[in-house]
Amino acid sequence: MGTTPRDKKPPTMGVIIPVAEGEQPWTPEELAEVREQLHDDVVAFEQKFLAAQAGLAELLTLGADTAGRDPADVGSTNFERDQEVSLAANARSVFEQSELALRLFDEGTYGICEACGRPIGKSRLQAFPRATMCVACKQRLERRA
Ligand SMILES: [Zn+2]
Repeated sequence: MGTTPRDKKPPTMGVIIPVAEGEQPWTPEELAEVREQLHDDVVAFEQKFLAAQAGLAELLTLGADTAGRDPADVGSTNFERDQEVSLAANARSVFEQSELALRLFDEGTYGICEACGRPIGKSRLQAFPRATMCVACKQRLERRA
């Protein structure tokens, strides 16, 4: 890997993000688009996460008082709570991934696979801006999981 100093560059302009073999280099417009998408996801999923968390807190308060209630009612509250738990967890993980990707972008290390160090590829990042791994590494990880 090269050791070109990166600290003299302005934040977004002049950011070099690697592309996969055979891909065209990023245009400034494409870079701006991906960064905007990441930023939007950070904002949107943080809100989703906070909303799900608030909903969950409410359900837990309700769920605490099950005395004398119809068991079917209690069951549906539990179901709702489980839904809310996974909703909150999903939103949180998307939020965290997007935030990480945005930070890498601003640090100038975005688009490099965190597992193998090769370019993630432009088309993959455009489809999935918060990716921090190339397709091959991601698939290997998922097979192992
Ligand atoms: Zn990789």
